[in-house]
Amino acid sequence: MDFALSEEQLMIREMCRNFADEIIAPRAEELEKTGEYPYDIMSQMGELGMMGIPFAEEYGGGGGDWVSMALCIEEISRGDVGLGIMLDVTSMCAHEIESFGTEEQRSRWLPPLVKGKEIGSFALTEPDAGSDAASISCAATREGDQWVLNGAKQFITNIGLDSGSIAVVAAVSGRDSRGRGVIDSFIVPKDTPGFTIGRRYDKMGLHSSSTHELVFEDCRVPEENRLGEPGKGLAQHLATLQMGRIAIAACSVGLAQACLEAALAYARERIQFGQPIIEYQGVSFKLADMAVAVELARLMYLKAAWLKDRDLPYTFEASAAKLYASEMVERVASDAVQIHGGYGYMSDYPVSRYYRQAKVLQIVEGTSEVQRIVITRNL
Ligand SMILES: Cc1cc2nc3c(=O)[nH]c(=O)nc-3n(C[C@H](O)[C@H](O)[C@H](O)COP(=O)(O)OP(=O)(O)OC[C@H]3O[C@@H](n4cnc5c(N)ncnc54)[C@H](O)[C@@H]3O)c2cc1C
Repeated sequence: MDFALSEEQLMIREMCRNFADEIIAPRAEELEKTGEYPYDIMSQMGELGMMGIPFAEEYGGGGGDWVSMALCIEEISRGDVGLGIMLDVTSMCAHEIESFGTEEQRSRWLPPLVKGKEIGSFALTEPDAGSDAASISCAATREGDQWVLNGAKQFITNIGLDSGSIAVVAAVSGRDSRGRGVIDSFIVPKDTPGFTIGRRYDKMGLHSSSTHELVFEDCRVPEENRLGEPGKGLAQHLATLQMGRIAIAACSVGLAQACLEAALAYARERIQFGQPIIEYQGVSFKLADMAVAVELARLMYLKAAWLKDRDLPYTFEASAAKLYASEMVERVASDAVQIHGGYGYMSDYPVSRYYRQAKVLQIVEGTSEVQRIVITRNL
């Protein structure tokens, strides 16, 4: 058994760590407050190859592995978890195209995504279908060699960015013999007539991440934009979500690491009763528990990514990592605020932002309850 990262993985982690420290973290509070999207940071991330790490070199990717991608997502999330989620979702979009697309689709759609020139989206959730993804109702009707999409999606990440270019959209293309919806997946460019980006959601946190509703009204896409085998759209989206769960676990670890570092620094400098509060076991044991939890979650996502890189089954490991890491980060963020006392509740310190941001990680890409369902099915 070898826990050592390769030289390339170490190099990528180092590059992303430095980038997060020098470029992202100093602006994270301002981004959260203003809600402006950091296009300059995103384009630098693209130039450094972050969006393309695990994708084939022939499409402009880095030809690396998912362990490296997850390490990158962890480090970027340590700077700003909104940017970590942006990376996660654009790589999900590219993953679905690379895994299930034809050669023609891969050559056409992947290069701008993996080079970070354009940002991709993944559109599954609807107003009446979240955890129960099979019950979506967005309809795709065949007319000649075109598909006509009608319906709505909600809470969709990335597509509201100026650089957001395409979404892989799940839609019901027919009914099976038992009357259940047959689902296909479509590549839908944002500028397609009939595709409207609806309102931007006013969220509790995570303001550097774009979240919008989408509306499709007689939105026509050619048959060549249908992705994968007919009728397998839901299975493809669920397979992509498995990859996304590794990424959300990595986002959680990055955010939790930021909480730990902030709490540790504060506990060393804050004096009460004549000495730094880290000298009190009530504080130092909390920090020890936080550090153990962060490391455990890190090992869990790395194992899931390692399995994925070897084409071994990783459903259990990805859900377990996502469940544990996302619940862990909420506890760690709460403890980080507690260690800061009253200052932790003020926006002068980053931990109040971390605390608001942490909750979403238990919801996106399958709630904690859905992860428990997946885990139980795999026992
Ligand atoms: C910031 C943000 C970004 C997002 N980005 C995207 C995106 O890019 N693309 C996309 O497609 N979606 C996205 N989502 C949607 C997200 O994946 C869903 O919110 C999530 O899957 C839950 O669906 P829901 O909100 O409809 O909740 P519901 O499914 O209505 O669940 C409500 C509650 O009931 C629980 N529940 C439901 N069914 C069961 C059950 N069988 N057993 C036990 N408990 C159950 C849930 O766990 C939850 O606690 C995003 C969401 C947010 C908040």
